[in-house]
Amino acid sequence: MSIEILNITKSFDSFKALSHIDLNIKTGELVALLGPSGSGKTTLLRIIAGLENPDSGSIIFDGQDNTEKSTQDRKVGFVFQHYALFKHMTVFENIAFGLKVRPYKLRPGKEAINEKVNELLSLVKMEELAKRYPSQLSGGQRQRIALARALAVEPKVLLLDEPFGALDAKVRKDLRRWLRKLHDEYPITSVFVTHDQEEALDVADRVVILNQGKIEQIGTPEEVYDNPVNPFVYHFLGNVNLFHGRVHEGKVELGSLKLDVPENIGIKNKEIVSYIRPHDIEIRVKDEGEGFIAAEIVFIRAVGPIVNLELKRLDSGDYLEAEISKEAFKSLELREKQKVFLRPKDFRVFTPEDY
Ligand code: ATP
Repeated sequence: MSIEILNITKSFDSFKALSHIDLNIKTGELVALLGPSGSGKTTLLRIIAGLENPDSGSIIFDGQDNTEKSTQDRKVGFVFQHYALFKHMTVFENIAFGLKVRPYKLRPGKEAINEKVNELLSLVKMEELAKRYPSQLSGGQRQRIALARALAVEPKVLLLDEPFGALDAKVRKDLRRWLRKLHDEYPITSVFVTHDQEEALDVADRVVILNQGKIEQIGTPEEVYDNPVNPFVYHFLGNVNLFHGRVHEGKVELGSLKLDVPENIGIKNKEIVSYIRPHDIEIRVKDEGEGFIAAEIVFIRAVGPIVNLELKRLDSGDYLEAEISKEAFKSLELREKQKVFLRPKDFRVFTPEDY
């Protein structure tokens, strides 16, 4: 089922939680709503579900206006951060529950229910745990059962609100990869709320970045990561080094560093801010001329395949972070207190108007 969100606005008293939200979600697409706490993600999800009424705007499911429809009539399934499975029911009974409580005419027979539950148990790879009670499951297993339970009634839309938020980092990562594979196998239109950028970029077909009730950018994970439209998105999606500078005589000047002016910036813009991701910094032990600046290595963390360096620019005294591969680190034989030369390979420039 496709979802069209048209010009949705929602206030709580005088507080504007959502302003003019427009978003089209295609059938079978997995879209992540990503933003900091209070940006309006859950409110938007609740409006899609029919649990909250918008002040204005429409929610269209497959071309039909659903704005006035009740949650029951929208055929949506939910998974929440703390999905309360029924404690006194086994895993099997929990999954079967939604089917058993259907109105008489829609209720499948016992055989059909058993078949459906077994199918879902196999889909979420939990066949062996069918007889366990929720208290005998790990947090990750519980969320998989919650998902199977949401899917049992064959919803047309699946809404997930921080479904892995209460789990530890390792389990979260495993589960989101698992969810991505599951979605490829069973592509149901899904909206996934998270405040974790890595999670959104890992799991979603497209990411919607929300900030203070407004959409900042919509795009595939690659689009939003590689081409952020403004500093908020750039900051929100990863670590950055920030430099203040100016455009002067056809070059971006960041202290003694002079870089070509990117296409998005007119020559007229004088003051600029430039962002460089730590992994976009190249390190050399010799001065290679233009585009390189001298720095001192003040800290090295060489655990794992990526080496994190903290550097102090010798021209401006600013600190910045760089990430290089272990191979590059070894071949350059770097050490703390060493003078090096760095070059930003990829940098983004924004003008004050972009804020
Ligand atoms: P979080 O990641 O913290 O859950 P969120 O992005 O999901 O945040 P929402 O829960 O949608 O944000 O809330 C958006 C804003 O609207 C917040 O400032 C919140 O305090 C406010 N808000 C949400 N629901 C209500 C309500 N029922 N009454 C008053 N204010 C509300």
